[in-house]
Amino acid sequence: MGVPALAASLGLILVGGLLGVGLLRRGARRSLAGQELAERLAALSFFISDVHREPRSTFINYRVVDGYKISQLVRLTLLGLIIALAISGCGLLLSLKAATSAVDMAYHGGPTLTHAEVSVVFLGQPEVKPITRYVRWLVNSTYMDSLVEYRVGRGTFGHVTVVPGHLAATITEADVRGYMPPAPRMLRLIFLPPGVEVVGHGGESGYHNFVPGFGGYAVMTDVNFTAVTSTTSHELAEAVTSLIPTQGWANGSLGEIGDPCAGVNRTLDGYIVQKLWLNSAKGCT
Ligand SMILES: [Zn+2]
Repeated sequence: MGVPALAASLGLILVGGLLGVGLLRRGARRSLAGQELAERLAALSFFISDVHREPRSTFINYRVVDGYKISQLVRLTLLGLIIALAISGCGLLLSLKAATSAVDMAYHGGPTLTHAEVSVVFLGQPEVKPITRYVRWLVNSTYMDSLVEYRVGRGTFGHVTVVPGHLAATITEADVRGYMPPAPRMLRLIFLPPGVEVVGHGGESGYHNFVPGFGGYAVMTDVNFTAVTSTTSHELAEAVTSLIPTQGWANGSLGEIGDPCAGVNRTLDGYIVQKLWLNSAKGCT
């Protein structure tokens, strides 16, 4: 929770408490005034006989015997408590909201791909047809519809490119880009063969990036089909909602929309997709 939100909610709780105490005291005073008046009347008149004089050194041991005055005291006290609770509740809700929105994805002004044109590149390996089929389905599926709250919709499938040749076990980001011409208007999903790692991304199953003039792309290094589909959906969803990493929809501590849900999959139309963080669901969906 941010410091301003905490201060605001504490302030509201304090105001609520003070108002409640004020009303309570006012209620007590009024009842005492009413009682005093009743006593004066009793002193003047024989008609009022059911008012008793009681010591009233403190509020606690002051017994009000007039039924109307008791109910007035109770009502005002309750009103004071209800208002105090309501205002304190508002303060707490505000704190809760601040705490929850702190874990939401926020838009940081960077580009998104509302209707991405997505192409597939097999680098250093022949086409893996099930992956092509998967991407073809994914870009035009309800998976993309779920991104509507990030103002992103379905994309279109571009084409398949196969770049043959043998890759070293470790290649650089620049090496990956060097295998293909720039395509600034396209999002490319690049699939590496088994055993090839990209410097700076060791141990990752995939990542996405954007280089001005070259375009946006994601690189998948998984070989297991279930894992590669999960990673592909993760990177596609992140690339279209935050083309430049963390500059679109992201959260400072959670990362981008796929990161809090990494490894948490669901089945959609018979395919494996990774769940995504949706602010509307306050979680992975
Ligand atoms: Zn990610």
